[in-house]
Amino acid sequence: MNLLIMGPPGAGKGTQAERLVKEVDITHISTGDMFRAAIKEGTDMGKKAKEFMDQGALVPDEVVVGMVKERLSKPDCEKGFLLDGFPRTLEQAKSLDETLKDLNIKIDGVINIAVPRERLMARLTGRRICKDCGASFHVMFNKPKEEGKCDACGGELYQRSDDNEEAVGKRLDVYEQQTQPLIDYYTNQGLLLEINGDQDINKVLDDVLAAVKK
Ligand code: ADP
Ligand code: AMP
Repeated sequence: MNLLIMGPPGAGKGTQAERLVKEVDITHISTGDMFRAAIKEGTDMGKKAKEFMDQGALVPDEVVVGMVKERLSKPDCEKGFLLDGFPRTLEQAKSLDETLKDLNIKIDGVINIAVPRERLMARLTGRRICKDCGASFHVMFNKPKEEGKCDACGGELYQRSDDNEEAVGKRLDVYEQQTQPLIDYYTNQGLLLEINGDQDINKVLDDVLAAVKK
């Protein structure tokens, strides 16, 4: 099964992706995680991406598109994949269609996690991420068992440098202007699976599983 997961920053894409790939055994590909890994490694691409990310802006299409194309050709994608955080612009969506055509792959569904904008600031400013495995927690809504420590791997939790009020405000504007139009793009292709993300994390997962198994 090949899936995309969409929604505004803070909708719960990473949280649901982490759980979903365990249930259906497909490969999780998050472009945000790939950029954070590149920053950690200190690559040229990471350095370039960080400038955009810290401002809450999108990394230029040509950088992201090439990175995803290369990633989708890796053998671990053959069992199916869940693409999280890509595409984010119409340009990216069109180039993904081209890439998939070249690789002879079809998308089975596009999960869209809908959450009202007024909920997202608190979700993002309270988010904590595991520095080792990237798992996502929240200081109020999804507390780790032990403060500051990842439940999954014991890694240290940190706050992303773009999870501050200023960058979040910008990211939400960018989402509305550039990414939200993709909902129509995938609705028109008959692929959209609309999920209410403004509910308990486990209930959202139940709804996601029901939608992808249909
Ligand atoms: P995204 O990947 O879409 O940016 P995350 O999955 O990282 O979002 O979730 C953003 C924050 O909101 C995290 O701190 C996460 O623990 C929390 N969160 C995720 N889903 C829910 C939910 N259904 N209710 C409340 N908080 C949530
Ligand atoms: P995320 O982890 O999905 O919240 O992404 C963090 C940041 O990485 C975004 O705010 C962008 O700066 C960058 N990014 C991730 N995915 C993309 C993408 N598909 N296109 C452009 N920039 C991206």
